[in-house]
Amino acid sequence: MLTKAYGAHAADQPIVAMDIERREPGPHDVAIDIAFCGVCHSDLHTVRSEWAGTLYPCVPGHEIVGRVRAVGPDVTKFKVGDTVGVGCMVDSCQHCAPCAEGLEQYCETGFAGTYNSPTPDAPGHTLGGYAQSITVDDKFVLKISHPQDQLAAVAPLLCAGITTYSPLRHWNVGPGKKVGIVGIGGLGHMGVKLAHAMGAHVVAFTTSESKRQDALDLGADEVVVSRNRDEMKAHTGSFDFILNTVAASHNLDAFTALLKRDGTLCLVGVPEHPHPTPNIAALIFKRRAIAGSLIGGIAETQEMLDFCAEKGIVADIEMIAADEIDAAYERMQKSDVKYRFVIDNATMG
Ligand code: NAP
Ligand code: ZN
Repeated sequence: MLTKAYGAHAADQPIVAMDIERREPGPHDVAIDIAFCGVCHSDLHTVRSEWAGTLYPCVPGHEIVGRVRAVGPDVTKFKVGDTVGVGCMVDSCQHCAPCAEGLEQYCETGFAGTYNSPTPDAPGHTLGGYAQSITVDDKFVLKISHPQDQLAAVAPLLCAGITTYSPLRHWNVGPGKKVGIVGIGGLGHMGVKLAHAMGAHVVAFTTSESKRQDALDLGADEVVVSRNRDEMKAHTGSFDFILNTVAASHNLDAFTALLKRDGTLCLVGVPEHPHPTPNIAALIFKRRAIAGSLIGGIAETQEMLDFCAEKGIVADIEMIAADEIDAAYERMQKSDVKYRFVIDNATMG
């Protein structure tokens, strides 16, 4: 089936309208009319070929919410009209040890990303949520139970939400823990909301003085402007866990110095250029760790969506039309996002 989409034909080309092909639902497939799609910094990295290996045409988008239009004969979990979500993955091998544990993001043969991964479908690589519809295996479709009027603000949970929820859970963030969130953009603002909802003492780190009050409103107990040395120094050696969402290369030592003995700095940002090598002595002398984390598995994504529905958590968004995506990318590159752009996919018609 032909569907309207927005994407780029090359790294140096703008985002433009295009028609793409979606497969008719197979036995286990769910065909979804997309209502909204969030704009992740990974979309920008991919479209502009900041990471190696972008395939064109590139249709990004992995924060998808919409309604089920049709289901294959073997689908039992979903029916026509259901409100559903799709995140960063649309397939995995389903038989390696990580898949068996519900950690499809660490699939040993590599999961299929919602965009830019090999697929038998035309044009040979997956095309994402900047489109009016998508067809996805039911194992990778999520149930949405938030109220209908919140759907646009639910979309960012599918990547920004799970990418911050998963490490916060893995490192046991909760009451009695002091937790830092670095970079108050799409991921970071969700990290602040989620760590606060989990009961931790949350400190937001931002390079933008203008986000100080917002970070408090999002749920931070304290805000540190990370360019201010004295403000940073006041927190030396005090954190159990710091989640770093920054999308650009920067000095990590400024943050490892803030960890307690045995504390962990977890990186989720994937900058185009590497970070400067961290100071190893700062790790060794306090048994500190630098770690990484990749999105989250399907079961944990459902758990996160249900947790957010129960606690009334959604993203803070700016809604845009499809022809405003390039302008949104420009603002994202200047850290000027409050705090996630979401495309109204109805504007693609
Ligand atoms: P975003 O909305 O652009 O937010 C990034 C934030 O980082 C900015 O708002 C800014 O916050 C801060 N920042 C930007 N440039 C900086 C610099 N030069 N120095 C210090 N801070 C800077 O991006 P996002 O969508 O949250 O994504 C963040 C990163 O995570 C991207 O690299 C993305 O590809 C990656 N990602 C990873 C995963 C995963 O599974 N690990 C999943 C999704 C995304 P302040 O203004 O507060 O400083
Ligand atoms: Zn993303």
